[in-house]
Amino acid sequence: MNRKYRKTVIAGNWKMNLLPSDVKPFAERLKAEAGRVKFCDVVICAPAVMIPAAVKAFRDTRIAVGAQDVSEHDAGAFTGEISAAQLRDAGAKYVIIGHSERRQYHGETDAAVNGKLRAALEAGLTPIVCVGETLSQRETGVSLDMIRAQVKSALYGIPAEKARKIIIAYEPIWAIGTGMTATPEQAEEVCGEIRAVFRGMYDARAARAVTIQYGGSMNPANAAELLSQPDIDGGLIGGASLDAEKLLAIINAANQ
Ligand code: PEP
Repeated sequence: MNRKYRKTVIAGNWKMNLLPSDVKPFAERLKAEAGRVKFCDVVICAPAVMIPAAVKAFRDTRIAVGAQDVSEHDAGAFTGEISAAQLRDAGAKYVIIGHSERRQYHGETDAAVNGKLRAALEAGLTPIVCVGETLSQRETGVSLDMIRAQVKSALYGIPAEKARKIIIAYEPIWAIGTGMTATPEQAEEVCGEIRAVFRGMYDARAARAVTIQYGGSMNPANAAELLSQPDIDGGLIGGASLDAEKLLAIINAANQ
């Protein structure tokens, strides 16, 4: 982490878990200890139907609410989709884009990720763009090429002043929900490379300013070491974010 140049962001990704009625009790527990944290930004990315309850439950705290996906379209005949303006109006501040589960199960392409990123930025949402390699890509030594390509196509045509508002989450697919975590060295290598892509596409200032998270089985036991890496500015946390105590422990690990 480097708090001098960029924000540390700890974001929970609830995926398709919990119920709207679970939001209030969870929020009470999290707010009691993390409602006023200043050393990092805390975000809960809830299923869309739970966003209004989460916004209400975290009102008057420093904990923000995010969505897990957004349409690349502004409005119209797109049944089942939710636009960036609708998320924003419902009180969401962040949105996850291009999560590997959406790429894998919903056919989300790099072009769609770019479209969603543009839509999110246009509406004033802070996008968390996920990139990551498969196990076979890691084993065949093409991880960095893969990640560079994913980041470049996500950012295609995005001007520097907008790129500064983006968060990138490096999420190796083999580490998501598996209990396998990238070593701090592996995660740092990729996050450093993502920063280098920003330097190449924009400039040193943009590279210094971009928040880059690690995600993939982050938990209270491994968070501090991962977050101590110079290019890792936070975490995107799935499983452990469903347990307020575990999420609090990770938030506290960011206080170093
Ligand atoms: C995720 O879904 O973004 C994630 C990182 O999940 P987990 O922490 O469960 O690996």
